[in-house]
Amino acid sequence: MSLENIKELLSKFGWEYHIIFDNNEYFSSRYLELTKNKVDENIFKYRNKYYENKSKCFNLNDINYKIEYLEDVTNYFEHISTLKKDKITGLATREDLDDFISKLKKASVFALCDIDDFKKVNDNYGHQIGDQVLNMLGTIIKENIRKNDFAGRYGGEEFLIIFDTNNVEIVKKRIDKINKIFNLKSKNLNLSFSSGISIYDKNKTSSKTIKEIDIALYYVKRNGKNNSVIYSKELEEK
Ligand code: GH3
Ligand code: MG
Ligand code: MG
Repeated sequence: MSLENIKELLSKFGWEYHIIFDNNEYFSSRYLELTKNKVDENIFKYRNKYYENKSKCFNLNDINYKIEYLEDVTNYFEHISTLKKDKITGLATREDLDDFISKLKKASVFALCDIDDFKKVNDNYGHQIGDQVLNMLGTIIKENIRKNDFAGRYGGEEFLIIFDTNNVEIVKKRIDKINKIFNLKSKNLNLSFSSGISIYDKNKTSSKTIKEIDIALYYVKRNGKNNSVIYSKELEEK
């Protein structure tokens, strides 16, 4: 396996990585321990003595590489390598979303996007156009999130995105941008979605976060749609 193959493999699984050449030239970021992940071990000659335990070195085609191991991602690899894509949207399936959420260890921001008046699209233009719209939004989402974010089809015309950040404001901006692109690309159909946003962290369960994004989403639906709202307790009384 060549370095190109490794890079391809890593990017296929949505991973960034951290390779430092001997001359300290830097390459991308993020974590991996190659041996654990069943990549052909024979090509690696580890020279750990120069580095701390959590990094690995190997020599490939006479170039020395160092791989930083920042976090145990073994489960991620197993999970992502068996990922099934939802046929219509090209995103993760509901099953894989649930699985991903159950393994989340970091604080993340959840956003649920529900297409506005989607039933009318089916009623007025037929289910095939409806399916094309779902595919289009799936593609737009994929193109506008980062490698470490995770998006899937949560239900019929509902998309859940788990952002690898703890900043809800940044996520709101990104969601609004995705909605704008969706609106522009849907041309004369003039489509939009509504979105509820909330943070998941060690103080709550993921099901509490899902309840919160639902509350925020229904607030948007009741108040004109085509918008996103960050969950706050006051929304429950509104
Ligand atoms: P709201 O703005 O309140 O969200 O209204 P809505 O019409 O989007 O919501 P509603 O829940 O009434 O309708 C969702 C529609 O999504 C109904 C269902 O037929 C359609 N739908 C669900 N899955 C698919 C699918 O895979 N393909 C197509 N074409 N339509 C789907
Ligand atoms: Mg819905
Ligand atoms: Mg809808």
